[in-house]
Amino acid sequence: MSFHSFIPPRRTLMGPGPSDVYPNVLAALSRPTLGHLDPLFIGMMDELKALLQYAFQTRNPMTLAISAPGSAGMEACFVNLVEPGEKVIVCRNGVFGGRMLENIKRLGAEAVVVDTPWGRAVELDKVKAAISAHPDAKFLAFVHAETSTGALSDAKALCAMAREAGMLSIVDAVTSLGGVPVKVDEWGIDAIYSGSQKCLSCVPGLSPVSFSPAAVEKIKNRRSPVQSWFLDQSLVMGYWEGAGKRSYHHTAPVNALYALHEALVQLHSEGLEQSWQRHRQMHERLAEGLGALGLDFIVPQGERLPQLNTVTIPQGIDDAAVRATLLNDYNLEIGAGLGDFAGKAWRIGLMGYGARRENVTLCLAALAEVLNK
Ligand SMILES: *Cc1c(COP(=O)(O)O)cnc(C)c1O
Repeated sequence: MSFHSFIPPRRTLMGPGPSDVYPNVLAALSRPTLGHLDPLFIGMMDELKALLQYAFQTRNPMTLAISAPGSAGMEACFVNLVEPGEKVIVCRNGVFGGRMLENIKRLGAEAVVVDTPWGRAVELDKVKAAISAHPDAKFLAFVHAETSTGALSDAKALCAMAREAGMLSIVDAVTSLGGVPVKVDEWGIDAIYSGSQKCLSCVPGLSPVSFSPAAVEKIKNRRSPVQSWFLDQSLVMGYWEGAGKRSYHHTAPVNALYALHEALVQLHSEGLEQSWQRHRQMHERLAEGLGALGLDFIVPQGERLPQLNTVTIPQGIDDAAVRATLLNDYNLEIGAGLGDFAGKAWRIGLMGYGARRENVTLCLAALAEVLNK
């Protein structure tokens, strides 16, 4: 048996993530690896932190990238903040809210689940009722941008409710960050996690997180140590803290962090507002074209994510065959339905570098040809 280098084809990634990676980000990955305690690398990390604070719109000192994908960011928020026996109100309107629930259960904490039908934004009235019924709950957790359904929830209103009730908010911003407004300080978000491979258009495998001073206080006053050694933020902070204090916790994924730095430089030079606007404009262009093809959106207007478009698969169309043809004949990836939407929906991503005119045009032209056959 002989082995050869793996040389992937160049695809256009228009699924739920990973998204198209910026060419500059791929180039950054191939730069020379430095030691992870090298002063030059540490200087880069300090900039990376400032760039993450910009992306999250926060001054939280505890803002960093976890060396693992978005799922680890989710787990880090729950294991650090929530202690066994504590009560968490968790909103579920798709797959990822269900994963939050799974984290809460495994921690031995108590979950109060607020269910909203798939494809809809989290229902604020139901959350309000749950908060009134459970004044002893310490946290409100929800997914800002539900990638399994394409629905955007009102993070500002949800965090305000949590704050008013004296609860800490835990927010999944894996798909929202960079694609739609996320304002950590203005909205009073206490713990937030994201992912490198969605609207930041970096390679998969890193999870930006940020914790408010109130969340840090909660972590410091824990009665029991964090169950996960790797994700224990009090240990990791020693590494991300200012110059001179850095000590070894784990070997940072050096080149992957160059890539995230580059992706955030890209976001910063474009400007957050401009990035949000570009996602919206590309979504409108795509939505118009999908409408002309007779494809219907699942999420009602006003609750739709620009960066993740969920459409109903028309009657009589072979889901898997269409996606395979797009991949093989057009080098185009779109997403299959997930969970309740498996076999019923396509998920078309316009994330980060992927949210551009040529991608929209390719996707509409390819779908038109394939559906006409
Ligand atoms: C993709 C995603 C995750 C998980 O991120 P990974 O990097 O795949 O671990 C979590 N939440 C949401 C909303 C996502 O879209």
